[in-house]
Formats: sequence, C-alpha cells, structure tokens
Amino acid sequence: MNESTPLDRPFSSSSAHAGGLLTVDLGAVADNWRHMAALMGAKEAAGVVKANAYGLGVEAVGRVLAAAGCRTFFVAVPEEGVQLRKVVPGAVIYVLSGPIGSSEGLAPFLKSNLRPILNCADQVALWRSHAPGAAPYGLHLETGMNRLGLPEFEARAMATNLAPSLVISHLACADVPNHPLTEEQLRAFTELRSLYPTARASLANSAGVMLGRDYHFDLARPGLALYGGNPLPHLPNPLAQVLTLQLRVLQVRRVDTPQSVGYGATYRAPAGTVLATVAAGYADGLLRSLGNSGWGLLGGVRVPVAGRVSMDLITFDVSEAPSQAVYSGALITLIGRETADSTEQAHTLDELATEAGTIPYELLTSLSRRYARRYVGGAGS
Ligand SMILES: *Cc1c(COP(=O)(O)O)cnc(C)c1O
Repeated sequence: MNESTPLDRPFSSSSAHAGGLLTVDLGAVADNWRHMAALMGAKEAAGVVKANAYGLGVEAVGRVLAAAGCRTFFVAVPEEGVQLRKVVPGAVIYVLSGPIGSSEGLAPFLKSNLRPILNCADQVALWRSHAPGAAPYGLHLETGMNRLGLPEFEARAMATNLAPSLVISHLACADVPNHPLTEEQLRAFTELRSLYPTARASLANSAGVMLGRDYHFDLARPGLALYGGNPLPHLPNPLAQVLTLQLRVLQVRRVDTPQSVGYGATYRAPAGTVLATVAAGYADGLLRSLGNSGWGLLGGVRVPVAGRVSMDLITFDVSEAPSQAVYSGALITLIGRETADSTEQAHTLDELATEAGTIPYELLTSLSRRYARRYVGGAGS
C-alpha cells in the first residue's frame, strides 16, 4: 500500500466501522514546517502544537516536526507539554498559558522540563518564589492584543530583575491586509524587547511570518500554516493540504413520492430523489451552518447537504452521483480528494471553514474524536 496517498477503498477493518475517516498527511505537515523555516532564513521556526496539534494529534505531529528539524515547540497548557515531552525528549517546550493557580501548578513544568511563558505579575511572582533560580522561562509583553502579557509599565519596572530566555508578544491582526495595529505592535515590541537584551524575541504567528523579515525576530511561532491553513486568506495559499475528511454512508434511499428531509422539514426532495445519510454531524465538528448549503464529493460528483445537520447524522441528495458510487458503506468526501488519483478536490480546509461561516482554526479543533484517524506520509514511509 502506498502510504503517501489519501485514503482509498478498501479500508482497514478498524476504520471500516467509524462514521468518519480523517487522513492526516504527515509529509505535508513536515513540508509546511520546512516552508515556514525557509521563510525564516537564518532565524528559527518553532512549531505550535497546542490543542492536540490543532486537533490532528500532538504525538504524531510532534514526532514528525522534530524529525523535520523543529527544536522549539509551543503548547497552551502544561498537560499538553507533558504529553508532547514523551515524543520530543530533547526539544524546548514553552507553555503559553504559564503556571496557573498555586505552587502545585509548577510541578509538571519541573518534572517534564517545560518552560512557562509568564503572562502577568502574579505568574512572575509565583515562578520566582517556587521554581529553581536557573529554570528558564519566557515572558509575554503586551503590545496591543490586550489578552495576556505584561503592560509596558510592568515590563519596564521588572526589566532589571528578570532574565527570561525568551520574550514574546502576539499579533492581533496579522492576517488583515495593512491593518494599522500590526505596525503599532511591531513598534511596541521592538521597543519593549530592548529592555531584555539577553532574551531571544518572538512575535510572529503563521501570518506574521508571511509579513516579512521585520516581523521575524529570533523565533517564529507558526501553527495554522503547518496544518495547511492559509495564513493570509486574501492571497493564494502557499502551503500543502494536510487533511482528507470522509464520511461513511449508513443508508441509501430513493423516495418515490415528494418528501421532506430532516429536522424542521427544510429540504423538499422531489419524487425520484436518492438520499444518502452519513454517520457524522455537528457533534463531530460539522457545523449546523452547513445545513442546506454544504456539499461533498461522491463518485466525482458534488452532492448537496439535504436539510439540517443533526448531532450525529447528515443527509445528502446524491441523485446526481453515478449509481455504482452510491451504496451503504460508501464515503462522501468533504475535505481533500476522494481517492489518490482523483483530479477533483472536495473543499480545502479553508473553503469548508468559509462555507460553514467559521475559520479553519475552529474547524480543525472541532474535528471529532469519533473519526478514525489515519496517518500517512510520515518519516520512514
Ligand atoms: C496559537 C498561537 C500561535 C499560532 O498562531 P497561528 O495563527 O496558528 O500560526 C502563536 N502564538 C500564540 C501566542 C498563540 O496563541
């Protein structure tokens, strides 16, 4: 079997029972990281793998990024760092939310050698009074997001007492063309980071990397780009698609007389319509907004969503699909290609997010735990 191709029939017995099949192309993840690393030139590209690597699996993604050369990782909370540490024993791991609560919150940092990003005076005090003096940490400087980070007066007041290994800030509008806040944040960060001359500096997320060298500093923090999302949606996407999402048909039915479909009876199926119901719904991250507007690919033909999206089910009008493609157990493709040699793509990740009225970040992190996951194209294949 060619491990670098999207899922193809027949399926392994374990995935044959799942309502949805998610194929993650780890080769594409590695290529996307290399793309970002190349844009950074002599500077470093980290990998942001918070929220289970945006839903794709932190262990598989962490391993493949480390093999591609990624040496620094960012997660959101300490538990994610503990999990990641098992697969990247030698890497630097920063935890964006820092230590939460009391001194007991520091235990996972010390045990798994995680570096907190300290985001406010309380976190700085907690870390300094309980962590060993030499344990490295990062410091978040507020530059305009007004979410986390030391405001300027604190950043100045504390500068003489602190020696962070890294100072970061986060861009609020990097993906919006020419937003004035982006340059203001660059100016503010350039000034504040100079208060911490021994620390490395990091400002750019995926979109920030695309904005050019001024934004690169020492270390970039791309997340979305690694998973194939377009960092600057108004420009063509330079990154490789990572995901294939396919939904299993549970039932096929031809209606002989005009019928309505689903909750609220919002879809009218004329006599002769062929309906196929798949085993995935909004509980699997397929937003209700796709009702009566989304579509998938079946046998190379676009098949529309018929009626509302239910919690665990979606019905498609498959009347136009070739009859040999329509059977219970067939797969309707929402993201990616139907088979390795299909020329036509269903949606890209960004397209499906737009169709659902959301952003690729939310779509990715909502992807169901009920899907069978298959990793292809990783190191060694
Ligand atoms: C999530 C996150 C990133 C990654 O952003 P992308 O837009 O996914 O590249 C970088 N930095 C911080 C602080 C984040 O929270």
